[in-house]
Amino acid sequence: MFTPAELLDINTLLKPENKIVILTHYNPDGDAIGSSLGLKHYLKAKGIEAEVIVPNDFPKFLKWMPESKKVIIAEYKKKLASDLIADADVIFCLDFNSPSRIGLVGDWLIKAGAKKILIDHHQQPEPFDYVYSDTVIPATSQMIYHFIEVMDDEKLVNQDVAECLYTGIMTDTGGFRFRSTSAATHRIIANLIERGADPAMITSNTWDTNTVSRLHLLALILGRIEVVNNGKVAVLSLTRKELKEYGFQKGDTEGFVNYGLSIAGVKMAAFFMEDLYEDFIKISFRSKDDVDVNQFSRKYFNGGGHINAAGGKSYDSLAGTIENFKNYLEKEEFIQP
Ligand code: 5GP
Ligand code: MN
Repeated sequence: MFTPAELLDINTLLKPENKIVILTHYNPDGDAIGSSLGLKHYLKAKGIEAEVIVPNDFPKFLKWMPESKKVIIAEYKKKLASDLIADADVIFCLDFNSPSRIGLVGDWLIKAGAKKILIDHHQQPEPFDYVYSDTVIPATSQMIYHFIEVMDDEKLVNQDVAECLYTGIMTDTGGFRFRSTSAATHRIIANLIERGADPAMITSNTWDTNTVSRLHLLALILGRIEVVNNGKVAVLSLTRKELKEYGFQKGDTEGFVNYGLSIAGVKMAAFFMEDLYEDFIKISFRSKDDVDVNQFSRKYFNGGGHINAAGGKSYDSLAGTIENFKNYLEKEEFIQP
């Protein structure tokens, strides 16, 4: 948590006449949007307006969230977004640990004169003016709740705040299943339900949103899932051609990598997907126990994230990337039989 001295500073920064921007990471997920909108609604309940800016668009299954339609997508509104960032007095940086994680917005953030406040749970955060980093907490949305607690503002958690934070915690814990899910997480969830978050509505709006094309894509990749390293590593992949053929939309492949990890004995799953427009491979890693995919992805694929969930990139071909991946596995002690 922020130190008491930092909290005093932050308290004085949070006043209605200050311009406040909330930023989150590229390809925003449920926790990115949930924490950002949750903070926005909390500030609103305090009488303070804030703008949420994301680098690029986010999946349709998050667009039911209160005020999600007002989120400014920098890729589509470059001037508006860069002006807001340049003019801001305070910029909250949520659910990312480095300006390199926010695409085109990174340069604007670095140049901005605002006070920059990081709230994030990823490994190895870079310096910001104020940093609340905790890699043990499963979701940035949970950290926003802790922030509201230390501000002594739990009474301001209304239904909008509750729905957003609930969604962020639910998605980043894989439905309260991942190992960072704690008793504190469940206590906060209980409070959020008491304050108006409806678990059935949120689950259904967020997860019962499969399209036929997504299920066909899933069937395709499950049909050729490969298990290597004596049953310890699962490999999944999709080509650009397949994405086009199935009418891929943003968010359609969310969660696919977890199917790899659900195989008995598998400790690490890797999902390689050609980007629809640009010439690179987007990689998602998931793991169990002490298999550290953050380190692995940093070392070999210019990426990072958490110990058990990380992402990376490759500019090789899909086949070349998967071959390299298998060679890197050979070198790593942690995944050997
Ligand atoms: P996903 O596989 O869902 O894209 O990402 C898993 C986790 O790793 C997320 O918390 C995400 O923020 C992080 N992540 C994804 N890609 C990258 C990357 O290229 N660099 C870093 N540092 N983190 C990433
Ligand atoms: Mn997160």
